[in-house]
Amino acid sequence: MGLFSSKTNKNSALHDAVNATKSSFFSKLSKAVLGKSTVDEDFLDDLEEILITSDLGISTTTKIIERLEKRVAREKYFKPEELQQILKDELIVMLGENKKHHLPKKQPLVIMVVGVNGVGKTTTIGKLANLFIKEGKKVLLGAGDTFRAAAVDQIALWSKRTGADLVSKGMNTDPAAVAYETIKKGKENNFDIIILDTAGRLHTKINLMNELSKIKRVMSKILPDAPHEVLLVLDGSTGQNAFEQAKQFTKATEVSGLAITKLDGSAKGGVIIGISDQFEIPIRYIGTGEKMEDLQIFDEQKFVETLFE
Ligand code: GDP
Ligand code: MG
Repeated sequence: MGLFSSKTNKNSALHDAVNATKSSFFSKLSKAVLGKSTVDEDFLDDLEEILITSDLGISTTTKIIERLEKRVAREKYFKPEELQQILKDELIVMLGENKKHHLPKKQPLVIMVVGVNGVGKTTTIGKLANLFIKEGKKVLLGAGDTFRAAAVDQIALWSKRTGADLVSKGMNTDPAAVAYETIKKGKENNFDIIILDTAGRLHTKINLMNELSKIKRVMSKILPDAPHEVLLVLDGSTGQNAFEQAKQFTKATEVSGLAITKLDGSAKGGVIIGISDQFEIPIRYIGTGEKMEDLQIFDEQKFVETLFE
C-alpha cells in the first residue's frame, strides 16, 4: 500500500477516521485480487459485491463497475494489482463531477440544522460554532430543539464551551418563536453566523414539512432569504439508513448541505462516496469524534486519497 501513499497533505484526524473503513475495504479487495492475473467478469462481480458491502449503495456501485468495464474494454486488460490505482482514479473523477459549493456569503449567515434524533445535530452545531469562532466570526446559536430538556441543556453547554452566544426559551416552547428571536437578535446585534438547532422527533413527512416550513416562514419575516443553508446531519455509521434519511429530508425540505457524523471507528465510511455521488447536495462537513475539534471540512478528493493512502 506504501506504493500509493502520498506524503503531501497528510491529515491524521481524517486518516484515523477512515481507518476502519479502509481496512475492511482493502481486506476484502486483497482477497478478491489474490491469485487473479487479469480483470475479468468474475473479478468485476466480486468487486461489485465488495463495493455494495462497503456501503456505497447499488447505484454508485453500478456506476463504478460500468466505468471499469469501459476501461477494461479500452485498455484490453489490466492486472488486479493495478486496480487499486484505477479504482482511486475513477472515484476521484466521479466524485469530482459533483459541483463544489461554498456556503453563501451573507451577513448574518443563517444555518438551520435538521436531521433525526441522535445523529449528532447539536454536537455538530457546537463544533461548527468552534470552527467559526476560530475564524474570528461572531456566532449566535438558537436552541430550537425544545422537545427535550436535555437538548436545551446540551446546546447551552456548547455555547459556554465555545463562547458562542445563545437564544433559548427553554423546553416545550414553540421552536418557531425561538427561531424568530434568534434571527432578530442576530440581525440587530450584527452576528456573522446564526445556527439554529431543530428537533428530530418528527415522524411523518407531513409533520416534518409543516414544522420546517413554519420555522422558515418565521425567519424570513426578519431576513427574507433566511435560512441560507439547511444543513442535514446524517449518522454515517448507520450506512444505508443514512441514505434513507437523506431521501426523506430532501423530499421534505430544501436541504443545501450535508454533514456526516460518527465516521470515527465506523467501517461504513463508504456511505460518504455513495451519498456524495447520489445526491446533488454537497457534503460540507464530516464528524470524526465527540470532541469540539472533531469536525472536518469535507473534501472528496482528500477523502479518497486518504482511503487509498
Ligand atoms: P442530536 O440528537 O442529533 O442533536 O444528536 P447529539 O448531538 O445529541 O449527538 C448524539 C450522540 O452522538 C452524542 O453522544 C454525541 O456525542 C455523539 N456524536 C455526535 N457526533 C459524533 C461523531 O462525529 N462521532 C462520535 N463518535 N460521536 C458523535
Ligand atoms: Mg440535539
